[in-house]
Parts: sequence; structure tokens; C-alpha cells
Amino acid sequence: MKSKRRMPGLSTQILIGLILGAVFGYFFPEIGKNLKPFGDGFIRMIKMIIVPLIFSTLIMGIAGTGDFKKLGRLGGKAIIWFELATTVALFIGLVVMNIVHPGVGVNISVSADAGAQAAEAAHKTVNMVDYVLSIIPTNIIDAFARSDMLEIIFFACFFGVGVAHIGKGGEQIVSLCRSVAAVMFKVTGYVMSLAPIGVFAMIAYTVSSFGIGMMIPLGKLILSLLFATLLFVVILLSVASALTHVNFFHVIKAIKAALLLSFSTASSEAALPIAMQHLEKLGISKSIVTFIMPTGYSFNLDGSTLYSSAAILFIAQIYGIPLSIGQQLLIMVTLMLSTKGIAGVPGAGFIIVAATATAFNLPAEGVAIILGIDRILDMIRTTCNVCGNCVATVIVAFWEKDITKESFQKAYTENFQL
Ligand code: ASP
Repeated sequence: MKSKRRMPGLSTQILIGLILGAVFGYFFPEIGKNLKPFGDGFIRMIKMIIVPLIFSTLIMGIAGTGDFKKLGRLGGKAIIWFELATTVALFIGLVVMNIVHPGVGVNISVSADAGAQAAEAAHKTVNMVDYVLSIIPTNIIDAFARSDMLEIIFFACFFGVGVAHIGKGGEQIVSLCRSVAAVMFKVTGYVMSLAPIGVFAMIAYTVSSFGIGMMIPLGKLILSLLFATLLFVVILLSVASALTHVNFFHVIKAIKAALLLSFSTASSEAALPIAMQHLEKLGISKSIVTFIMPTGYSFNLDGSTLYSSAAILFIAQIYGIPLSIGQQLLIMVTLMLSTKGIAGVPGAGFIIVAATATAFNLPAEGVAIILGIDRILDMIRTTCNVCGNCVATVIVAFWEKDITKESFQKAYTENFQL
């Protein structure tokens, strides 16, 4: 027998979890303080998914293209654009946070010791040569075991090219990866169904530990991130329009459904199929779309990149840890590399922030504080991620002369103009 009442959607459930968590934490602080493990468990489950998902989708993206020369050329062009876009995103995150200071004035006391430790860690210089060398795995099983995204991506590139090179013999591997990816997407769905509980627990813990006053600076963080993200998107679209002489707001209109989907699911993977479909309708050839989009999901998550730099600065601000311009640039260089492994699944960017905050000895509680509202931040950054990847695909297609101003206009008018 079918029940007449429908369960509310996941976003609604999460929002309910968030509100109930805040109320619960406020009225029952003693219980709320003990709920943290439920939130932690949820985060661990997300972490559990990422390695197999990234590895399988990367192999599909790299091995699936076939034409080796074209792959190299496309890859080169894509990397140039990805680097430019993500660097600008990181920079905008830092600049906006330095101007708005959404975390300043929040009263969270942290021991003088911990503060000094964090400041000292931010001082430490990263040896670039060591950093680059550390991307090369000496043992891929070890890299999987440590969930080291950059090492895994490095290996996946070679592996994927190898699979493409052996031709027919590699087809089984590609199809295995396709199945693994599909299974991991399913598992993501299972894990996400626990999101409301995780958010409830985390926000209850946060409110009971730090008080409801925490919500005000978090509101400021949401608005700051929204502003910074919109600023980035406007700059991105303007530059893209100037380079190609086509109106990139038309691209936005063409991928509208994908943007809505990514906003409501907070997963750019969820929006991938429809985004690819619509890009092809703009006249871009399949080989370009299928290579650039999945690769961009590892290397060009502009929204997540911007969010990472903003979130790290926010954590430093709430604990009153001063970071000089030099230290911030160092964080930026670190994030330039570490954000390259973010997966297009809900909460993935948050894990990068957690790892980077720990690496710079910023208090782990700061990361937990962001978690309570991360879903909202995730919706903002995910929409930007999908937008950034679609723009990158169109740019590379123009660069490759796969499409021209005329063909673009024609395809747009035929398929998307009302
Ligand atoms: N949710 C984001 C995405 O799907 C990734 C992130 O958490 O930053 O693109």
C-alpha cells in the first residue's frame, strides 16, 4: 500500500536537520555535546567513497578518448585554462575574506599554545621540490591506503594512457571502471541519506559547545562566499566572452538545468550527464566534452577552490590567528595543488579544507564549526564548479577550432533560444 505522504527531498531534510540541531543544541547542551561522533561518522563515510570514485572516473576520462595525440593536446590546453581559472578563484577567495573579515570578532577562545602553534605552522616554508616529488607515488597501494589524491591522480594519468594504448585489451578495464564508478555513485546516495543526521549531530554539538552566537558569523561566512563566488563567475564569463567574442551568458542559459541540478544536489557529478548533453547541443564534439568535463571534475573545481581558501582564512579569523600576506600566499600555493583532487560529490571540498587546516595546525574545531553550514556552502560552490567546467569545455572547443562564433550562435539559436 502506497503512503500518501511523500518524504521531503534531501536538501529539505538537511535543512530540517540543521534547524532541529540548532534548537536541540540550544535547549539540551549536555546531550548535544556528545553527538559529535555521529557527525564524524558521516564525514568518514564520505571519505570512504572518494578514492574509488575518483580513480574509476579518471581512468574512464583518460582512457575513453582513444586518439592519443589529441588527448595530449586537449590535456595541455585544458590544464592551462584550469590553472588560470583555479588560481583566480583562490585569489578571489583570499581577497574577499581579507576585506569582509567574516570570522573576526567571534569569541572562541583557543589556548595561547594552540594559537602560537598554528601561527608557527603557517610560517613554515614548504619546500617546492619535495612537494612536487611527493605527488609521485612509490607504491600506489600505499597511496590508496592514505587516500592521497594527487598521488592517485598522477598514477591514474599513466594508467589511463596505458589502457588507451593497449587498445582492445584495455576495454575490459574501462568497462570495469565504469561499473565501479556507477557502484560508488550508488553508495554516495546511501551515504547522503545520512546527511540530515550528520548535520543534526554536528550543528547540535556546535551550538551546545559554542552557543547560538556562532550562527551570526556563520551567516556572514555564507554571504561572503556567495559574494566571492558571484564575483568569480562574472569575471570568468567576461574573460571567456572577451576571448571568444560570444556571449557566455548564452552558455549559462544552455546549461541552466545542470546548474539547477548541481545547486539542489550539491554534487557536480549528479549534473554531469545533463551538462555534457547540453554542451554537445552547442555543437561541441563528443570527444572534447567527454574528455574535458571529467578531467575538470578533478582539476577545475573553481567553486570548491575558492571555498577552500575562504574557509581556511575563516578558521584563522575566528581563532584570532594572524596570517601575513606571505603565509596566505603559502596556503594558496598548497591549496593550488591539494584542491586538484576534490571529487564532485557533496562534502568533498570540506575534506580538503580539513586536511589543509590540519597541515597548517589550525584548530580542528574550526573545521567542525564550518561543517554545520557546509551544505549551504556546498550548494554555492558546486553550482560554480559546474559552471566553471562547462565554460572550460567551451573555451577549449574554441581553442581547438572545434566550434566557431558562427557555429556556436547557430547551435544556440536552434536549441536554446525560445
Ligand atoms: N560538492 C562539490 C561538487 O560536487 C565538491 C565539494 O564538496 O567541494 O562539486
